[in-house]
Amino acid sequence: SPGLDPVTASAEIDLAAFRENVATLAAHVGPAALMVVVKADAYGHGTVACAREARIAGASWLGVATPTEALSLRGAGDAGRLLCWLYGPAEDLSPLVAADVDVSASSAEDVSRLVAAAAVTERVARVHLKVDTGLTRNGAPEPGWAELFAAAAEAVDAGALRVVGLWSHLAAADEPGHPSVALQLAAFDRAYTAARLAGVQPELRHLANSAGALLLPEARFDLVRVGIAAYGIEPAPGLAELAGVRLTPVMRLRAQLALVKRIEAGTGVSYGWTWTAPEDTVVGLVPLGYADGVPRHAGNVAEVEVGGRRAPVRGRICMDQLVVELGPGSRAEPGDEVTLFGAGPDAPTAADWAEVCGTIGYEIVTRVGARVPRHHL
Ligand code: PLP
Repeated sequence: SPGLDPVTASAEIDLAAFRENVATLAAHVGPAALMVVVKADAYGHGTVACAREARIAGASWLGVATPTEALSLRGAGDAGRLLCWLYGPAEDLSPLVAADVDVSASSAEDVSRLVAAAAVTERVARVHLKVDTGLTRNGAPEPGWAELFAAAAEAVDAGALRVVGLWSHLAAADEPGHPSVALQLAAFDRAYTAARLAGVQPELRHLANSAGALLLPEARFDLVRVGIAAYGIEPAPGLAELAGVRLTPVMRLRAQLALVKRIEAGTGVSYGWTWTAPEDTVVGLVPLGYADGVPRHAGNVAEVEVGGRRAPVRGRICMDQLVVELGPGSRAEPGDEVTLFGAGPDAPTAADWAEVCGTIGYEIVTRVGARVPRHHL
C-alpha cells in the first residue's frame, strides 16, 4: 500500500478471531442461516480476506451494499450466495444478474429493471423484495407493497424472476425493549401475508441485524444479516453479554512511537494548546491522525496502550499524528509499540474509543483510512 511504512502504523486483522466470532454467531442463530455483511471494505477489515474466512467459518451468505462491492467480490473469486441492496436509478443491474448476485428490489420499477437485466443476460434474476417496516430508509412503504408484489408475481410467471427473499431492516434492535421492534415484526408478518396473497412465495425471510441476531429469536426467521458482531464489536455496549455470546475484537489499530520527548510543566501540547502539562512529564508522538480515521473528537479524551499501560491522548488530534502522555517516569523509546484500540487485556477497544468520542464502534473501525495498511494475521 502507498503511504505509511507498514511497520510504522497498520491495522492488524486477527482472522482467527474473526472466524471464531462467525462460528459462534452461526451456532447462536441456528437453525437460521448466517449472512456476514462485508460492505464498506468489511467494516474496514478488508473485504476479500474477510469474505473468504466468513465462508470457511460458516456463513452461507455474504451481504454488500453496492454493485461495485458485489462485483469486486465476484472478481476476487467468491462464488457463493451474495446479496446486494443499494444501487442508483441509473445503474445497470445486468452485470449483477450475470454474476449470479442476488439483488434487492424496493419497487415495481426495480423489479422491471431486474426483468430487463434478466432478458439481456438470458438468466433468471434472483430477487429479495424489500419492505419498509419502520426504518424509513429503503424498501417499499406499506401502501406500495401490493404494487411491488404484483410486479414480482408477474415477472415470476414470465420466467424472468425468482423471489429468493422477503426482507426488511430493524430500526432499534440494539435498544432492548424499544417499541419499534414489535411494530416492525407485526408489519413484516403483514408483508409476508400480502406477498403470498399476491401469489409470491419467498423462499427466505430475513430481518435481523447483529442486535436482532443476538437478542431476538423471533426476528431471526430463515437468515440473519450480521455485520458488526462478526468483527467482534457489540452493536451497543453489553448486548453480547446479555445474549451470552463471547465476541473478540478483530481489528487492532497500532503504530510505533515516532518520537519521545520530555516536556516541562506548563508546556502546551498540539494545536491550540488545549492541554498544558501540569507537571514535568514525557510525551510520545503517534504517527496516526484524522486523515487516517482517528476521530478528532478523541483529543484529550481517548487513551492508547503503550507497554501494557494506558497513555492518555493529550491535545488535539492532527491530520497525521497525535500526542500521548507516557508519564513522568516513562522509559518508552521511539519504536515502542502503541495500540490505539484492539483486543488485549490492557488495550482500549473500538467501543471504548466510540464511547469517549460520542460515536459508535461501527464508525471507529470503518473510518480507518486507506493510508493505513491492513495486515491480515
Ligand atoms: N443489513 C443491512 C441492510 C445493513 O445495512 C446492515 C449494516 O448496516 C446490516 C444488515 C448489518 O448490521 P449490523 O452491523 O448492525 O449487524
